[in-house]
Amino acid sequence: MQYWNPTYECMTREEMQRVQTERLINTVKKIYHNVPFFRDKMQKKGIEPCDIKSLEDLKNLPFTYKQDLRDTYPYGLFSAPLSDIVRLHASSGTTGKQIVVGYTRRDIDTWAEVMARTLANAGATKESFVQVAYGYGLFTGGLGAHYGAERIGASVIPISGGNTKRQLQIMKDFGTTILACTPSYALYLAEELAEAGIKKEDLKLKAGVFGAEPWSSNMRKEIEERLGIIAIDIYGLSEIIGPGVATECHCQNGLHVQEDHFIPEIINPDTEEVLPPGTKGELVFTTITKEGMPLIRYRTRDISSLNYDKCECGRTLVRMSKVSGRSDDMLIIRGVNVFPSQIESVLLEMGETAPHYLLIVDRIENLDTLEVWVEMTQGMFSDEVKKIEDLERKIKKEIENTLGINAKVKLVEPKTIERSEGKAKRVIDKRKI
Ligand SMILES: [Zn+2]
Repeated sequence: MQYWNPTYECMTREEMQRVQTERLINTVKKIYHNVPFFRDKMQKKGIEPCDIKSLEDLKNLPFTYKQDLRDTYPYGLFSAPLSDIVRLHASSGTTGKQIVVGYTRRDIDTWAEVMARTLANAGATKESFVQVAYGYGLFTGGLGAHYGAERIGASVIPISGGNTKRQLQIMKDFGTTILACTPSYALYLAEELAEAGIKKEDLKLKAGVFGAEPWSSNMRKEIEERLGIIAIDIYGLSEIIGPGVATECHCQNGLHVQEDHFIPEIINPDTEEVLPPGTKGELVFTTITKEGMPLIRYRTRDISSLNYDKCECGRTLVRMSKVSGRSDDMLIIRGVNVFPSQIESVLLEMGETAPHYLLIVDRIENLDTLEVWVEMTQGMFSDEVKKIEDLERKIKKEIENTLGINAKVKLVEPKTIERSEGKAKRVIDKRKI
């Protein structure tokens, strides 16, 4: 078994707690002094940095919500001076307002370290050829995988997403051994591979590190069979660092959290109380080594549970279970975060339809699809077909512009969409994950 950093990956629980305690205390002190928004939150709870003496005290600290990142946009949660920030990444939010994260040089170094561990979990070495088919840019996927592979000393192929034919050609010709992309794209590549008449035996592919969207064990099986690889689930989010927060090992039985950098907790999303190991709830992370934008008790909305038993791989890092859902209504469609409310506001702004809509999400031929049903007004219903088709196109374009996602738009007859007494059912998710 190969570890990238056994000192931390195989630490005893006592040692890990000592490391975490020291780092937590330092982080809280620093943020309290550098981030007024956070200081106010602590003062409202009546606590000061000196009240945080052990990991037990973590539960007394205030939560950080995604909304906080929007409210303090763009730099309000940065703890380091802007002159020390060497990188900015961003992701889209609910109302089109994006969230921004900043990294110091040391943060980039930490990112490379945790991604090196991630890739080593998938068996990467200096001899590996890592094809990074995650998008490069403001999205953290591409560069995160890139840094990790480079840190290991593997040969990085920074192809980014898309251009499927070229992906396959390069995979074969360059002798790619490790593929990094979203699971749905991996499956799509596998299908196109068959189409192109390339057999898995023609490839040197050994493993894949797949993340940025939830996926099922059935999908894993299919990817593994079709590509002849071991498929490793990786977890991360830009707010915490990007990919590299947690990863599966070869045992594929939970994702090891890099807890010398990120302390996980599981809470009840309604009561906000901390839940014991093994119990399902919302995943919360506290960063304890980040400088640019450290976050205390960040509510991820992802549903998981924690397992502190020692793993067969020998790592002692706590494992989180594969994310099984979300505690809010956010959808992840082809790696893009979509809130039904975003589509609602597009429709309302256009004001040409009735305010009733339904999102149908599916996975067809292993790719996520989004269909938007919108009700016509009574007046429109008698309009000619061409006029209706024009409006469908217009809505489709508007959704694409605002959310950056391709949707099929269908105008339906008045009163087609089921009305609800309580919370409207806006989404039908047919994906089996
Ligand atoms: Zn393990």
